[in-house]
Amino acid sequence: MDQETSGDMIATMPAVSFTLGELLADVATGSEAVPRAWADQWHPSEEWSPPPSSVSALLGTVVPHPALLTLAGKLSASAVGMDTGLRVEAADSHEVLVACGERRFALGLADGTCTELCRRADCRSRMMEAEVPWCSTHLIDLDLYSMVTAAQFWARASHRHGDPERSSPDWPAEELMKAAVAVAAGEMMAEAIVMAAFDDPHELEQRDVPAEYGLILRTRHAMDRERLRLWETAREEAERLREAAGACQACHRQLCWLDDGFAAGAYPQARPEYCSAACDPLPTARERYLAGQQNWYTGPREDSPF
Ligand SMILES: [Zn+2]
Ligand SMILES: [Zn+2]
Repeated sequence: MDQETSGDMIATMPAVSFTLGELLADVATGSEAVPRAWADQWHPSEEWSPPPSSVSALLGTVVPHPALLTLAGKLSASAVGMDTGLRVEAADSHEVLVACGERRFALGLADGTCTELCRRADCRSRMMEAEVPWCSTHLIDLDLYSMVTAAQFWARASHRHGDPERSSPDWPAEELMKAAVAVAAGEMMAEAIVMAAFDDPHELEQRDVPAEYGLILRTRHAMDRERLRLWETAREEAERLREAAGACQACHRQLCWLDDGFAAGAYPQARPEYCSAACDPLPTARERYLAGQQNWYTGPREDSPF
């Protein structure tokens, strides 16, 4: 699409900020809009009909109703309801980015979708999960405590009490493991995920009415299977990062020739681009986790998901 056509799509400059109630009222009273020509080009099939849309003065464009209804649904748990404050972060002919505090949404102007985005400002990637509200790129930028805590919240959501086979967490476990391996915290991340996703076998053993022995064995088996899967993901990612780096960033030894346990293993105590913990200037994973925890309780909450 050329610049001129694109310019026509944005009828007015969007308002800076408004409430959810104002936005819904604005669309309810806005004139119904005809389907846009470029949207028809995307869907040339005759059976396709565009979603009902209205002109929104606040968003400065024609906006499909399903996108707004989904947005209202996603924000419905907010304590202030219709008074939830929103602002337009960016707008072009394809989508309008609306922010609500740290949360960011892309309203699809052609298909009427509402996609929640990574919490990092200006990032257009979708977030992984409600509990891990970043994309895989920006997950690595988090402090270790926030990263591990987000993983625990997400793994706990996949926990099925008394059903270890169904508790096994799925995506985004791999993305979380890769991010943790990049900052030398693979082992910590794997244990955090496994312990949050399954019943605690020790607790099962010590109940007043002991859990069925089979359940304890099946839980242990499922946890070990998950540990193996996460370990394999970590090993592959560590190997990939080591190959990409080539040589230790500090002492310039060739990483691919190292055969000591730390460098070759899935869970080295140093970042994969360093030959050993002695060369990596980063503090240990445990120290970084504790420092992040300290900041979380006392410092600014900008990067905190909860
Ligand atoms: Zn991102
Ligand atoms: Zn080195």
